[in-house]
Amino acid sequence: MTQERETVKRRRRIERIKKTIIVVILSAIIIPITTTAIFAFLFLKTKNQLSDLQTRYDDLIETMDQLRDTVTYEAPEQDVFSTSEVEVSPRDMDEETENTDMTDEPETEITKYVYLTFDDGPSSNTDKILDILDEYGVKATFFVTGKTDDVSIAAYKRIVEGGHTLGMHSYSHKYSQIYASKEAFSEDLKQLQEFLYEETGVWSRYYRFPGGSSNTASSVDMNELMKYLDDNDITYFDWNIVSGDATGRAVSAETIYNNCISKLDKYDDAFILMHDASAKNSTVEALPKLIEAIQAIEGTKIVPIDDDTVPVQHRTLQ
Ligand code: ZN
Repeated sequence: MTQERETVKRRRRIERIKKTIIVVILSAIIIPITTTAIFAFLFLKTKNQLSDLQTRYDDLIETMDQLRDTVTYEAPEQDVFSTSEVEVSPRDMDEETENTDMTDEPETEITKYVYLTFDDGPSSNTDKILDILDEYGVKATFFVTGKTDDVSIAAYKRIVEGGHTLGMHSYSHKYSQIYASKEAFSEDLKQLQEFLYEETGVWSRYYRFPGGSSNTASSVDMNELMKYLDDNDITYFDWNIVSGDATGRAVSAETIYNNCISKLDKYDDAFILMHDASAKNSTVEALPKLIEAIQAIEGTKIVPIDDDTVPVQHRTLQ
C-alpha cells in the first residue's frame, strides 16, 4: 500500500518535473524570439522616424539656405543697378546667339531670358507640370534626384522627350551623405548621372547643389566640389528668384506668383527656383498664370538651360 503510494507520488513528481522542463524549454525559446521581434519592430520604427526626421531636417536646411542665398545674392544686384548698367551681363553674347539660333522669332528682340527650374522631382506632380508646360509651349529645366520606380522613370523620359533640360540634384538628396566627403559627393553624382543616362540616353552636365553652392550643410569645402564638377565638365546653376514654394507650410499659388513676378525686373536673366514635389500643389496651381504673365512681357522668353546659358552662381570656383 505504502509502496504503491510512493510509486504514485514519484510518478507525479516526475510528471511535474517534465512539465517544468517543457515550460523552461518553451520559455527559453519563446521569450528571446518575442523579445527580438519586439526590439526589431522598435528598431525599424525608430529608424523610419529618424529617416523622416533627417529628410525634414534636410528640407529645412535647404529652405533656409535658399532664402538666405537669395537675400545675399540680391544685395550686389541692387548695387549694380544703382551704379552702372553697362557691365551687368552677358547680354551681348546672348544677342549674337539669338540672331543665329532663334530665327523662329525674328521680330521681337529678346532682352530677358527666364529659366523655370524645378528641384527635387520626379514626383506625383511632374506630369501635371509637364502638361502645363506643353500647353503653353514652354521648355523648363528639371534638377532631379534618383528614383527607381516605374512612374519616376517614365517621368525622366517624358522630361527628355518633351525637350526639357534634365539636370541633376544629387541621387540621394541626403545632405549628411553627399556633403560628408568629396568621395561621397562624387559617388552620389556618378550614380545619378549614370542612372539617368541608362534610363534616358541623356548624359546630364547640369547640376544644382542641394541647398545651393553656398549651402551651410557641407562638411567639405564647396570649392573642392565645384572643382570636381568643373573637372567633369558639369556646370552648376543656382537661382536669383525664389518662388517661395520650399517653405514647410503651404504657400498659396498667389504668393508663389507674386514672389516670382515682383522680382522679374531685377535681373537680366531670371532663374526661378521652384519645386517638383508631391506636397507642392500650389506650385502647379501658380504655373499657368505665371507663364502667361511672363509671356506677356515684351522681349521676354522662357527657355530651358543649355550649353549657352550663362549660369547664376552664388559662389564661384576660386
Ligand atoms: Zn532639393
